[in-house]
Amino acid sequence: MRIVLFGPPGSGKGTQAARLIARHGIAHLSTGDMLRAAVAAGTPVGLRAKAIMDRGDLVPDEVVIGVIADRIEEEDARNGFVLDGFPRTVGQAEALATLLAERGIAIDAVIALEVDEAALLGRVEKRARETVAAGGAVRADDNPETLKRRLAAFREQSAPVADYYRRQELLSAIDGMREMDAVTAEIDRIVAEAKANAEARADG
Ligand code: AMP
Repeated sequence: MRIVLFGPPGSGKGTQAARLIARHGIAHLSTGDMLRAAVAAGTPVGLRAKAIMDRGDLVPDEVVIGVIADRIEEEDARNGFVLDGFPRTVGQAEALATLLAERGIAIDAVIALEVDEAALLGRVEKRARETVAAGGAVRADDNPETLKRRLAAFREQSAPVADYYRRQELLSAIDGMREMDAVTAEIDRIVAEAKANAEARADG
């Protein structure tokens, strides 16, 4: 299965991605995690991305596309993957389509988590509190000011990605404000349907 989880910061993509990979034995491809690792390791990509991420803006397309192109080549992604936080622009979505087509594979489903923007600030604050309580370090970009920029980036640059996939009839939009388990159940239903469709195509 190859799934895109799409939604604004704080919409629960990370939590739902973790559940999907546990259930389906597929790789979790989070560009945010990969970029944070690159920043921590001080790689050229990390050096380029750090200030942009701290501001809450999007890292240039060519940087994240390069990161994803390398990552989908790795062994654990052969079986399938969940893309979490990528693509975030139509340019990235188009580059992904090309990358996958070159490998003879395709996206099975795009699941968009729709959330009330006003509630996101509360969610991100809660995530920061829980991280501190668990003895972890709070993400540099999990603060109200940066979140506002991340939300603006989502509205302006990422929202068109949903339309891109809707036109391709790949998009399933779900209410991300519901209980976490209810959202998971809905995602499971969409994935099961996409799997059945993929198998039917393979048989046909
Ligand atoms: P995330 O963990 O997905 O919220 O990503 C954290 C930050 O990493 C974002 O605010 C961006 O600065 C950067 N980032 C992650 N994924 C992408 C992407 N697909 N395109 C551009 N920037 C990204």
